[in-house]
Amino acid sequence: MKRLFTILLLASIVAFTPACSRQPIKALIISGQNNHNWQVSHPVLQKILNNSALFEADIALTPAAGEDMSTFRPNFSDYDVVVLDYNGDRWPTETDTAFLEYVQAGGGVVIYHAADNAFAQWEEFNKIIALGGWENRDEKAGPYYYLVDGKPTLDYSAGPGGSHGSEREYPMHCRKADHPITKGLPDNWMHARDEMYDRMRGPANIKDLLYSGYADSTKGGSGREEPLVFTVDYGKARIFHLMLGHCGPTADNNPAMQCAGFQTLLLRGTEWAATGKVTQPVPKDFPTAEKPSYRLDYKAPAE
Ligand code: ZN
Repeated sequence: MKRLFTILLLASIVAFTPACSRQPIKALIISGQNNHNWQVSHPVLQKILNNSALFEADIALTPAAGEDMSTFRPNFSDYDVVVLDYNGDRWPTETDTAFLEYVQAGGGVVIYHAADNAFAQWEEFNKIIALGGWENRDEKAGPYYYLVDGKPTLDYSAGPGGSHGSEREYPMHCRKADHPITKGLPDNWMHARDEMYDRMRGPANIKDLLYSGYADSTKGGSGREEPLVFTVDYGKARIFHLMLGHCGPTADNNPAMQCAGFQTLLLRGTEWAATGKVTQPVPKDFPTAEKPSYRLDYKAPAE
């Protein structure tokens, strides 16, 4: 009898262990060079992840631009997911190789905002991001990818890759509501003031397009329905590409990253990239179709 009681007691402890006491997902944020304000963005990314209690995020910073890169040797295999907030000098060959081995072995990767500007000449990296921009990308990088009447369209016409109109609030349009990352979230919601990347080019090996947005030509955009959030078809890897989140001058003046929609996608996409699942409920402060919503302190409200 006593033995049965012990078993039941153990079973109930397992069953009622709260989510926050689970082993955190180990994430590595890579930063240190960017044409963006990486000094602000990388601690903000870390804060969003760690505040959720789902993740334990470390940071690996590269040496400064032009400095000797040979010491930059993060141990990717220690992590469930690598979050790229990096757009700068090429890594040492050993690090490139270690990164590819990590990704090709089924590693999780999050491509955040200008990380898709990086490494225009690195062919394999371009397959990992599917679409990239700037850094002299043109038709040689691959086609433009956009939606015509809701259908993905590849456009091989000549021209530069990567641009954006003026920063503004804009509606996000869900393109796959049954993906773990989008499940339960509204089909249309208002993103806070941000850039909207457009005219991106690349191998365009998008697996699931999750969100698009209309790049209004009266605001300097392409006049097309542009892919903004998607997963990438790259072997066993789980790759989440989040073009949103242009970083402001300070953590307190950073609307695109303070957006509850951005933070929700970062958290859900990072969990999915790490594990293939999303265990997070739909947050009660998620933006509506009409109104953006902010988490000024980078923390979700208590349930
Ligand atoms: Zn930007």
